[in-house]
Amino acid sequence: MRILITGAAGFLGSHLCDRLLAEGHAVVGMDNFITGNPDNIAHLAGNERFAFYRNDVSNFILVPGKIDAVLHFASPASPNPASPFGYPNLPIQTMKAGALGTHNCLGLCRAHAARFLLASTSEIYGDPQEHPQKETYWGHTDPVGPRSMYDEAKRFAEALTMAYHNYHNVDTRIARIFNTYGPRMHLDDGRVVPNFIQQALRGEPLTVYGDGSQTRSFCYVDDMVDGIYRLLISDEHRPVNIGNPFEMTMLEFAESINRIIGNKAGIVFKQKDRLGDDPQRRQPDITRARNILGWEAKINLEEGVCRTIPYFKEKLGLV
Ligand code: NAD
Ligand code: UDP
Repeated sequence: MRILITGAAGFLGSHLCDRLLAEGHAVVGMDNFITGNPDNIAHLAGNERFAFYRNDVSNFILVPGKIDAVLHFASPASPNPASPFGYPNLPIQTMKAGALGTHNCLGLCRAHAARFLLASTSEIYGDPQEHPQKETYWGHTDPVGPRSMYDEAKRFAEALTMAYHNYHNVDTRIARIFNTYGPRMHLDDGRVVPNFIQQALRGEPLTVYGDGSQTRSFCYVDDMVDGIYRLLISDEHRPVNIGNPFEMTMLEFAESINRIIGNKAGIVFKQKDRLGDDPQRRQPDITRARNILGWEAKINLEEGVCRTIPYFKEKLGLV
């Protein structure tokens, strides 16, 4: 296939480029670098099966030649308002990437009779009242809350995807992606994994927001990319959760990172830095991914963190 990936210079997008090229496909990357980094795809320069276009997907998307599939990953993804890369600081761009960007990608898929895969998110469940979260759960979101620019854009993107599937027969997939980590995450995007790993490597205390009782379930990027690829080549049109169900509190997560890295500086609680609408619990029910895709995460937290550390050491000049 010849596959367009939007958000190709980002964390997940760049790993997907690598996987699709390794599977023998041709890849067209597109990005406007609003939160991504050209370094993430620099190693692909000169690959004759890779092409790149700098473009804002919220504007019209024009790609020369036939496209067989589009993976729409372009969107700011960090909730941290302290970061210039966080979606609270990029609210209009975030809503446009989810709404207009998704519309443009779906229009392109319709014109090319191409397959479409949407990078949706566990955030569509909001601060969930059902636990763990199954795909049948409708969610608990505030349309005007501090995360609304992201949550509602992704919810609209899912609805638009189903509309193009049901009305125009576009061959669509919806991946509900849960927290993912690994090399090529932006150092300053303020998400918990880059924050904790960098703090631990520098010998600083880890900043736990609130009382640290809120939970997340972290998936290593190679597992995530494998789940997304399996969904792409499946026939499943309904949403599928992709994530690692291993759930832990942010306090337990901080203690694990300090233990794995050998950081003796401990933890500091930043009560006021916890965001409004920060989900209290998050854990994917991956029964559908197991049954439909034959997929589950294989890489445990310790192994995933150890695979991620060299990237941060290099970026911090610690090697
Ligand atoms: P990222 O910020 O590293 O990557 C996003 C990329 O999209 C960046 O390269 C950015 O420059 C690009 N982009 C943003 N708006 C654009 C636009 N209008 N036009 C062109 N390019 C644009 O973030 P990520 O973590 O790799 O997330 C990628 C996708 O996966 C996002 O859609 C995000 O919502 C989704 N997702 C990620 C996670 C996670 O844990 N990483 C979880 C759930 C969903
Ligand atoms: N968090 C934290 N310390 C940090 C950054 C984040 O305790 O330095 C917490 C945050 O409050 C949230 C969790 O870690 O409960 C995950 O945050 P992240 O920004 O990674 O993404 P989210 O899952 O909220 O989208």
